[in-house]
Amino acid sequence: MTSEQKSLFIIFGGTGDLAQRKLYPSLFNLYKQGYLKENFAVIGTARRPWTNERYQQIVRNSISGMEITARQANEFSSHFYYQSHNVNDTQHYETLRQLADELDKKYAINGNRVFYLAMSPQFFSTICEHVKTQGLVTDNGYNRVVIEKPFGRDVKSAVELNDSINQYFPEDDVYRIDHYLGKEMIQSIPALRFSNNIFNALWNYRYIDNIQITLSEALGVEERAGYYENAGALRDMVQNHILQTVALLTMNAPTMYTDADIRKEKISALKALRVYDQAGVKQNFVFGQYGAGNGQAAYREENQVAPDSKTETFVAGKIFVDNMSMAGVPIYVRTGKRLTTKNTQIDVVFKNAPYNIFGEDQLKRNILTFKVDPNPGMELRLNGKKVDFDQYSIQSMHLKHEHGEEIQSKMPVGYEKLLYDVLQGDTASFSHWDEVYYSWRFVDAIRQGWQKQAEGQIDLYPAGSMGPKGADDLLAADGNQWHFRPDQG
Ligand code: NAP
Repeated sequence: MTSEQKSLFIIFGGTGDLAQRKLYPSLFNLYKQGYLKENFAVIGTARRPWTNERYQQIVRNSISGMEITARQANEFSSHFYYQSHNVNDTQHYETLRQLADELDKKYAINGNRVFYLAMSPQFFSTICEHVKTQGLVTDNGYNRVVIEKPFGRDVKSAVELNDSINQYFPEDDVYRIDHYLGKEMIQSIPALRFSNNIFNALWNYRYIDNIQITLSEALGVEERAGYYENAGALRDMVQNHILQTVALLTMNAPTMYTDADIRKEKISALKALRVYDQAGVKQNFVFGQYGAGNGQAAYREENQVAPDSKTETFVAGKIFVDNMSMAGVPIYVRTGKRLTTKNTQIDVVFKNAPYNIFGEDQLKRNILTFKVDPNPGMELRLNGKKVDFDQYSIQSMHLKHEHGEEIQSKMPVGYEKLLYDVLQGDTASFSHWDEVYYSWRFVDAIRQGWQKQAEGQIDLYPAGSMGPKGADDLLAADGNQWHFRPDQG
């Protein structure tokens, strides 16, 4: 049964790209489904001097095409209020507080507040401080703060940021967004692992040969070049999305499927990441940057990118989680921009049967594939009997499940599910501080090892390929290869 939620959202960065492209449409979907009805309001704040009318028009533009009637869009947008505000200016929080209290009464919200920080990370601390010290938090409802990525750029900055936020908000009220955790097939990992004994029983070093995670993008850095130039693929994708996925794939079974139990197991898995020294980084990680190709410019030719930039737009690596069940299982990961195609998938490659009664070279590995994007579904590669008259031979077969159009139409988009969870107080799909800490600890060691070893050298790969050759060599050295090879037809 759909239960209506009472909440006041205060969106810092209400005029920005994230708010317009993701947050307003997601809130509208929650509204259409009845999770938000009468008792909610949204205050958008940013510096530009918009009126409420202008803001409401922007919100209607954001949801254009999603509404059933114009009246529905108007009713939804009538819950939105704009407050011009510089987050560095203490005085403005007083105006914001007055508006928040007024809307709380008007919509009978009972003090529930979500502070959504859709702004550059440099402002996260100051907003948390002001929200708390200027009396924007309530005594009679919940006060949850949602923080966008990136959460720091290394262990040191992440610790500083976390300490400053924790002065004002306890860990349980901090919702660190990793939008990959809102994706349907990422959410499906625990379901498949722990509700099927065929996988539950096999999910360990005895039966899994290796795991492969690919997050490939066909686009280049586009308008994010300014940010990306100082971040790179390791910080932008590995520290968060890839390591969160690794945690879900390697954690032990939670006692129950509750946020507290899931977080406990994810933290243990990330704590067990093998942290490399310099030699380990050299052996296990490959970095690349896209050159020109397919008629597209090289990374170094993009706006806001230094002509001699050493920033990595591609990274591949071999990761180990040294816990009792997964020790020794290589987890190959790769992510990059301007690759052959946009695709996110996870391939769990099982070991062959211990003895091949069918003769040499006939058995292919069993592979369980989670297809995350763009067409969510699953595949299982099995060996079966080939239909043949005069000989008994084995061929590879694929069991496929694709979430069809009807299911896909019901699938919550990433932010919609996450916003719903914030309203429910369900933290399972958000990163706990300890997860963030252990992820940065792992990533910092790689960055430091790479910087020392490479002295700034980086492999260029042609746009439209699947990255530098070293990414294939990494697996070949173990007698493996990438299962997902769109560059090979
Ligand atoms: P953006 O388009 O640049 O928006 C930034 C917002 O901050 C604007 O509303 C801007 O409005 C406001 N702002 C800037 N300085 C301010 C100040 N001193 N006081 C008050 N408001 C101020 O950025 P974005 O793309 O929405 O990204 C926001 C956050 O989400 C970032 O942390 C980003 O890393 C993260 N994120 C974004 C996406 C995405 O798809 N866009 C995806 C993942 C994560 P005014 O100029 O009017 O003040």
